[in-house]
Amino acid sequence: MSKAKIAINGYGTIGKRVADAVTAQDDMEIAGVVKTRPSFEAKLANDRKFDLYAASPDKIDSFNQAGLEVSGTLDDLLADVDLVVDCTPGGVGAAYKELYQKHGIKAIWQGGEDHEVAGFSFNSEANYSDAIGRDFTRVVSCNTTGLTRALYPLDQTFGIKKSRVTLMRRAADPGNIKSGPINAIIPNPISLPSHHGPDVNSILPHLKIATVAVKLSTTLMHFHALNVELDSDFEPQDIIDLYAARPRIRFVSGADKITSTAEVMELARDLGRSRSDMFENVIWKDSISKYQGELYFFQAIHQESDVVPENVDAIRAMCELESDGEKSIAMTNKTMGIGK
Ligand code: NAD
Repeated sequence: MSKAKIAINGYGTIGKRVADAVTAQDDMEIAGVVKTRPSFEAKLANDRKFDLYAASPDKIDSFNQAGLEVSGTLDDLLADVDLVVDCTPGGVGAAYKELYQKHGIKAIWQGGEDHEVAGFSFNSEANYSDAIGRDFTRVVSCNTTGLTRALYPLDQTFGIKKSRVTLMRRAADPGNIKSGPINAIIPNPISLPSHHGPDVNSILPHLKIATVAVKLSTTLMHFHALNVELDSDFEPQDIIDLYAARPRIRFVSGADKITSTAEVMELARDLGRSRSDMFENVIWKDSISKYQGELYFFQAIHQESDVVPENVDAIRAMCELESDGEKSIAMTNKTMGIGK
């Protein structure tokens, strides 16, 4: 079977990671990546032997002046691919829909776009089979991916009566020098609840979930405090067993002296992964508690990377490369070293 040909539009935080993850698969390949400017990331794409395309014809000169050869424009690239992964900044990707439709290709958007852009929101474990053969899909945001990974198995196994989540969000990605705060806590949004609960409902419509969110002066990871009322009785060990069977969930513990997101990121560096990525939800095993009959625990989410394996699985489903979601997840995990 020939490999699915994939374009990456927007080679930034998410785009460069998805490009590497696709390259690691046997059933798909990168046909080219699109940049707006000849930045260090464009040079990195060149070094990694990805064919580079300019977002529009007027940008080509700037690439040539920087000594970077481009193979054409976004329009040229889209003429010869099966699927485009749109990794442009949130809110920008929707405007490309018409172009993707014009080329008759499939498209994946990221969580910065509204559900309506694709009309279908994706999480590998929760709804892989619904993505099979689809033309358009949105891989939900890093926070929504992390919440869905944690809540879907609970709902499947015990039933969720109500979930309440406080999201403590990183202010900016590490390479972003423009966003803050440097020294403040920002209720974001101030009006409650936050949009994160409804975003989980774009995948699990029936789930009762209320979320509040603040932004903190950190760049490393998001941090979630979860409180879940389950329909059936449980003991903390049941929850540990449930999550232990999920490779996209990794346990850490205070007993191992992992007591902060900084130490989680140190662990990611020690695992020797590319870019120190932590693709799994990181749950503090010793935080999993039953208090007054309800479940409580803490998890950290590496915003730059948790959605990357989900993009690979979405490609596999949409391009009908694998009909069994579990097999796709296993393949993606193996090639990306997830769960080790
Ligand atoms: P980013 O700013 O790091 O990268 C975006 C890339 O798109 C940059 O290379 C930029 O030059 C390029 N770009 C800008 N305008 C463009 C245009 N008109 N056409 C083509 N390329 C253009 O952004 P990101 O963090 O990778 O976010 C991409 C998407 O992923 C957003 O929807 C975002 O909400 C979502 N997302 C981001 C994170 C995260 O934490 N960074 C996590 C999950 C999902």
